[in-house]
Amino acid sequence: MNEILYLDHHATTPVDPRVFEAMRPALTGEYGNPSSAGHAFGRAAQKQVADARARVARLIGADPQEVIFTSGATESNNVALLGAAGHYAQPGSHILTEATEHKSVLSAVRHLEGKGLCAQILPVDPQGLLDPAAVRAAVTDRTLLISVLFANNEIGTIQPIKEIGRIAKEHGVLFHVDAAQAAGKVPIDVNGLGIDLLSFSAHKMYGPKGIGALYVRRKGPRVALEPLFHGGAQESGLRPGTLNVPAIAGFGKACEIALAEMEDETRRVRALRDRLEARIREGLTEVYVNGHPVERLANNLNMSFPYVDGGSLLAGLWQTMAVSSGSACSSDIPEASYVLKALGLGPERSGTSVRFGLGRFNTAGEIDAAADRVISVVTELRAASPLFQAWKSGRLAG
Ligand SMILES: *Cc1c(COP(=O)(O)O)cnc(C)c1O
Repeated sequence: MNEILYLDHHATTPVDPRVFEAMRPALTGEYGNPSSAGHAFGRAAQKQVADARARVARLIGADPQEVIFTSGATESNNVALLGAAGHYAQPGSHILTEATEHKSVLSAVRHLEGKGLCAQILPVDPQGLLDPAAVRAAVTDRTLLISVLFANNEIGTIQPIKEIGRIAKEHGVLFHVDAAQAAGKVPIDVNGLGIDLLSFSAHKMYGPKGIGALYVRRKGPRVALEPLFHGGAQESGLRPGTLNVPAIAGFGKACEIALAEMEDETRRVRALRDRLEARIREGLTEVYVNGHPVERLANNLNMSFPYVDGGSLLAGLWQTMAVSSGSACSSDIPEASYVLKALGLGPERSGTSVRFGLGRFNTAGEIDAAADRVISVVTELRAASPLFQAWKSGRLAG
């Protein structure tokens, strides 16, 4: 497996060796339950959790008390949306979100619609941006909450969070942001951005799987959530159950590293991403980048390769690299991604897309090898593609 290049960092990331080391004490000697405040084992575990909570809070400019540990961003999104609706909703309450949200937000919103809430899903422009003016126009006196994805997991488009946060504040509406792809990669200050609830996850930022956080604002306003689970006082009663101390310690370390190295890492990864795009463009005609050219995560490259069969393209790439398509291959017929559809892309673009997600440990040599492989697989498929031959002769004739 180590011969396969890993370029799927939007799906998950490897655990940074420094994170792994930070998890060791809680997995070996310091295995106490942080709820056992009386004895030394419990207190050592408590200290691990408190240190991690402070590090997680620092990454997003929050107070440690405002950080609730969860199992990941899916859970955080659900606790935020269902919890806010549970506490604040009245008949006819309205939720605003956008078409390219993560499935966990869209599904939670659908669930709330089933409970009688009114949801409005705003469209995005062809580059994936949500227009703040459209948000402003859609807010009514019944709007309870606006939920916006900070950075998209397929195309990397970064939304105008600050502008939308200002609109939410002006109207006294709660603002939830899914920052699973953005946290640790772009600066986040929950106060400066006007965010009331923020979801993120350790395994998208070189921490372990199964741990994440929900930021819940405590001042201006103090946000109240109806708990989804019952049984204990942990995490302000919002997430009862014994804390996963090793994972929490690792998450804290991952946040500390991300904050300290964000600028350097962003610069390095962006250069690799741009190199990958430039090399592919040198070797192939008719390739397209999906998403926003500038307002985009530094590690994201989502490209379409028209005139090839999307399934054959992936099969060819998967022999040497881990990348993902925009299509959910849950059946034999690949279904075009709802995100690419929301951009208005036709099947020739949405059905032939490849998502490259670069990461902390990728090297220039790996990127060059990936570009070479992409060029050779696409060239080979196009040589056998009647569509591509037709396009070429049409272009020659025209
Ligand atoms: C990965 C991801 C999630 C889900 O996070 P988990 O921790 O795997 O539950 C939610 N939203 C976005 C944008 C993601 O990329």
